[in-house]
Amino acid sequence: MKTKASKRKVAKKAKVAAKAHSHAWAMNVMKAVWPQERDFFERPERYRYVRKLLPVSACVFCEGVEAKPSADSLVLINDGHVLVMMNKYPYNSGHLLIVPLEHCGNIWDLDDAVMARMSWWLKRSAQILKEVLNCQGFNMGINHGAVAGAGIPDHLHWHIVPRWAGDTNFFPLIAETKVLPETLEQTYNRLQPHFAKQVKA
Ligand SMILES: [Zn+2]
Repeated sequence: MKTKASKRKVAKKAKVAAKAHSHAWAMNVMKAVWPQERDFFERPERYRYVRKLLPVSACVFCEGVEAKPSADSLVLINDGHVLVMMNKYPYNSGHLLIVPLEHCGNIWDLDDAVMARMSWWLKRSAQILKEVLNCQGFNMGINHGAVAGAGIPDHLHWHIVPRWAGDTNFFPLIAETKVLPETLEQTYNRLQPHFAKQVKA
């Protein structure tokens, strides 16, 4: 006859096994249904990035200022005042960032001429994204300060995110992860000539 203690032990073991089984089952469903979302579940670096757990070693925008425009640096254009670059962790294809060269976190400290130049690039960027990616709308905005959601609050940047009808799913809301129909490099190569043309013109 089994003792009370051993019965408890067996019940506990069964509970643990059931939990492990249901976790494995859930992961398999995730992989089958959302194969492209696997990075979120299997790439701890990305998870740590979206949870803002990665230590910031240097300012990525100041690094962008030093870099040459390329698919590697994600810099589309540097006109000597402003940088337009692709977001490495986009919410949608063609998610761009318009960044002043100066490492400045407060909009009131920004030079008026630089601010005007940022607006000019916002306008141009919208036009290029519309022409090249055929998007139907945009989200444009600045998260000013860490409490407002700025990932890099010390270096101001303007987001421009192209939108298409029906492009939303629940994933960005719960996991800050998005399925992208093309790679960053593919989008970069399509957009870059149009940005280069703007400075030559
Ligand atoms: Zn900076």
